Amino acid sequence: MKNEFDVIIVGGGLVGLSLAASLGKDDFSVAVLEARQPVIDWPAGSVDLRVYAITRESQKLFELTAAWSAMLPKAGPFRDMHVWDAGGNGDIHFSSADLGEPYLGHILEARVIEKALLDVLDELPCVQHFCPASVTAFNELEDRQQVELEDGRMLSAGLLVGADGKHSRVRDHAGIHARVSDYGQQALVAVVTTERSHEETAWQRFLPTGPLAFLPLADGRSSIVWSASSERAEQLLKLDATDFCAELGLAFDRRLGTITACGERVLFPLQRQYAEHYVAARIALVGDASHVIHPLAGQGVNLGLKDVRELADTLRDARGRNRDIGSLSVLRRYERARKGDNMAMMLAMDGFKYLFGSPVAPLRWARNLGLNLVDGAQPLKNQIMRSAMGL
Ligand SMILES: Cc1cc2nc3c(=O)[nH]c(=O)nc-3n(C[C@H](O)[C@H](O)[C@H](O)COP(=O)(O)OP(=O)(O)OC[C@H]3O[C@@H](n4cnc5c(N)ncnc54)[C@H](O)[C@@H]3O)c2cc1C
Repeated sequence: MKNEFDVIIVGGGLVGLSLAASLGKDDFSVAVLEARQPVIDWPAGSVDLRVYAITRESQKLFELTAAWSAMLPKAGPFRDMHVWDAGGNGDIHFSSADLGEPYLGHILEARVIEKALLDVLDELPCVQHFCPASVTAFNELEDRQQVELEDGRMLSAGLLVGADGKHSRVRDHAGIHARVSDYGQQALVAVVTTERSHEETAWQRFLPTGPLAFLPLADGRSSIVWSASSERAEQLLKLDATDFCAELGLAFDRRLGTITACGERVLFPLQRQYAEHYVAARIALVGDASHVIHPLAGQGVNLGLKDVRELADTLRDARGRNRDIGSLSVLRRYERARKGDNMAMMLAMDGFKYLFGSPVAPLRWARNLGLNLVDGAQPLKNQIMRSAMGL
C-alpha cells in the first residue's frame, strides 16, 4: 500500500467521495479517509432517512465522474415545485415544462449516491479508500501535510482536503475559525405515505413555525423535512404515529389528502456555520467543513458539489501549468470562486427564514404579494428556475 499521495481527503461523505472520483478521473493519486462504515446493501422497500434534492448542476458532476448511470434507476425526478405561505394567499408554482425541460432535478437517497460513488472509486487505481479509518494526528512537514491513522499508519500529500463535515478537524488543524450560530430550530425528517400521488412535485409550505417540505420519492412515498422551533419539533417527535399523521396532514393543508402512514422520525438540530477562510498553505476545505446552511431550499450538498467542481478544476489547471497544487496562490483561486456564491446562498436562506417566520403584518403582506407577483412574471420565474437548476 502506498503512503504518499498528491491529495489526502479527510471525510468520505458525499462531498469527499465526489472529489476523490473527480480527481481520480484526472489521474491524481488520492487517499480518501472515512471513519464510518458505508451502507452498501439494505432491505428492499426501505428508504434512507437522508434524502437529497439533487440539482441538474450536481447531476452534471455525477455524469462526469461516471456515477450517474448507477443512481438514475433509483432517482425520483421532480418536474414541478409548489411553494405557498400558511400566513396568507401567497402561492408560487415552478414547472420544468415552462422551460421545455423534462424535470427540475431528482430526489435521491444518500446511500444510493454513496454506493454509486464507491463503485466508481473501486475502478480507479489511483484512488485508495481507507475505511473505516480515523485520523488521530496531523503533522506539517516541510512541503507536505502528514496524517496519522488510528492503527499507526502515516500518510502524506502535497495537499490535505477537509471534507470532514461541520465539526472539521482539518479546519481546526489549519487554525481556521468557523462562525457558528443556532437557528433555534430542529428539522424533523421522516418518510410518509399520502392518500394522493405526489405528482412528481416538490412541495413546500411556509408555516409561522418554520418551513415544511414534501419531496417526491421514486416509490410514490414522500420524504418530509419539517423545520420547527426545538420545542415544537420535540413535541412532534413524541406524538404517536396516528396523531403525528393527523398533525402533519393539517400542517400541509391536506394538499395530498390524508397522511396514511409514517416511518421512523429523526430530528436534526439546525445551525448556520461558515469558515472565515477556505484555504491555508497545503490545506483546502470543501462542503460542510466550510459552510452549513438552513436546509429549507435543499442546497447543502449541492453547494458542496460546486466546491468539488471548482477545486478539481483549480488543481487540474495548476498541474497543467507545472504549479505546486498545495501552494496558497493556487488554492486562493478556489476560495475566491466559491466563497461569495456560498455566502450569497446562506444569506438568501437566512432571509427566507426571517421573512416567512415573521408574524408582522406588513412583512406578511409583502411576502405574499411578492410570491404572487413573481408567480405571474414568467420570464423572471424562468430565470429563477434556470439559476436553481444550474443551467
Ligand atoms: C434535515 C436536513 C436535510 C437536508 N436536505 C438537503 C437536500 O435536500 N439537499 C442538499 O443538497 N443538502 C441537504 N442537506 C445538507 C446536507 O446534509 C449536507 O450539506 C451534506 O451532508 C454535507 O456533506 P459533506 O460530505 O460535506 O459532510 P458530511 O455529510 O458531514 O460528511 C463528512 C464525513 O466525514 C467523516 N469524518 C469526519 N471526521 C473524520 C475524521 N477525523 N476521520 C475520518 N472521517 C471523518 C464523517 O464520518 C462523514 O462521513 C440537508 C441537511 C439537513 C440537516
